[in-house]
Amino acid sequence: MVLILLITSLSSFVASRAAEIRLIYPRLEPGQEQFSYPQELDSSFVLGQMVGATPSDRAFCNGHSLELASDGAFLAFLPLGNTPETSVWSFTLIIGGADTSRLNFSYCRTTDTPEPVWSEVSPPVWYQVCEPYAHTRTCVGGSYHLFPESGTPLKVVAVSEKWVRFALGGGVEGVIERRFVNTSSPAHVTGAGPVRLGNGLVTETDHAVTVVFQTTRTALWEVSTESDADEFQVLVYGGVATVDRIHFAGRSRDFVNDIRWGQLPQGVSLLIESAEDQRWNGYRASATDTTFTFTLWKLRESKPGLKGKHVVLDPGHGGSADGAIGPRGSKEKDIVLRWSQLLAEELKSAGAAVTLTRVSDTGLSLPERVEVGHNSGCDAFLSLHANALPDGQNPFARRGCGVYYYQTTSRRLAEAVQDEILSATKLADDGLYDANFAVVRPTDFPAILIEAAYLMRPDEEQLLMDESFLKRLSRGVVKGLQEYYSE
Ligand SMILES: [Zn+2]
Repeated sequence: MVLILLITSLSSFVASRAAEIRLIYPRLEPGQEQFSYPQELDSSFVLGQMVGATPSDRAFCNGHSLELASDGAFLAFLPLGNTPETSVWSFTLIIGGADTSRLNFSYCRTTDTPEPVWSEVSPPVWYQVCEPYAHTRTCVGGSYHLFPESGTPLKVVAVSEKWVRFALGGGVEGVIERRFVNTSSPAHVTGAGPVRLGNGLVTETDHAVTVVFQTTRTALWEVSTESDADEFQVLVYGGVATVDRIHFAGRSRDFVNDIRWGQLPQGVSLLIESAEDQRWNGYRASATDTTFTFTLWKLRESKPGLKGKHVVLDPGHGGSADGAIGPRGSKEKDIVLRWSQLLAEELKSAGAAVTLTRVSDTGLSLPERVEVGHNSGCDAFLSLHANALPDGQNPFARRGCGVYYYQTTSRRLAEAVQDEILSATKLADDGLYDANFAVVRPTDFPAILIEAAYLMRPDEEQLLMDESFLKRLSRGVVKGLQEYYSE
């Protein structure tokens, strides 16, 4: 039997008091005909508000009693049904013993996506990356791995309808979505063997120290760092070292103590070692068809504190992207925009210059947000969010403030900001996360993402709607930055 989607958004029969069941999530996105949960989930959450109800009224979903906040807001984690007959959230509100309102929301289950069918490419063919913000993965459904520049040739060993598999060197493979690669014509790769890494030159300016190696084609590389950013380990995939010498020009040796290179099965390893006590704002690796360049950015302002520092604030979402929505209907995009304005004021009174990625309800892509940081020469990049969990996760297992970073060079900033937010707001500690998000992936400056609290929780939504709470939160962030720059 096919159950037709049934949403009764307003079905309140007035008893002594008018009340309305307002379901906030799950909800249909524009153009979506039916909501679906992955087959493997056995429970998920519902949230919304019984508008006009009080905690003494009784509300149910699929027969389970719902706990109502003083204004009727609710959040519940309930079992999912598996058949068309049981795949429905059925809400009832009882006021003074009378069944006053009902609402039904039906959903379906998705089946697993099939594994890709690969056609081997033998012998391998070189295809070029053709998009500016491409990423590779470790396997289909695996982690983001490398971020090749447009024009980078990949040694393709197999293709499927949506994916391309390529060899990195030493038996290591990766996959990339086919839309990122020009598979219509092979790349002209000179001497299609391994990329040769030749001699190096180290130079120094007021802002940076730059290490340039000669190469025979655009290389794929990976950088790993220590949290105190005094050592940078680079792997140039599929590379062969032909280095005879590295020349340290000018005063560059005052900043970079040593560069060592070695040959591994999967490529060339480089170890770039900072001079003692040298601190960096960040770094950038980049490749062209003749060079591999590693730039280390000096701290722009060496004095402690926020005076003269440039902070970029990135209020998440905006425009048609609401972000998370709370049980009372408040939207993440609006809350973080207000928070960014209050935080900008606090930062300016502490002496910092501030740039916002958006100042109104407008949408921006993730690369556009990061670009604001690159274009304004920033000392710290803070992306501001309010949290919600994906379908199927128990929302009662998590609460409070979480801070996310990706580069180990951003970890100290994440720790300092997290500590000071917790002591300024008394929020629960939702933890510090190493997460591969686009807005915390930049390496040129420390970048963190703050999930202030859980907008999906009735209690934390109430906090986030309160301006005095957003001010306390902002003072915590400012103290965290001051702490970071005092070291
Ligand atoms: Zn968000």
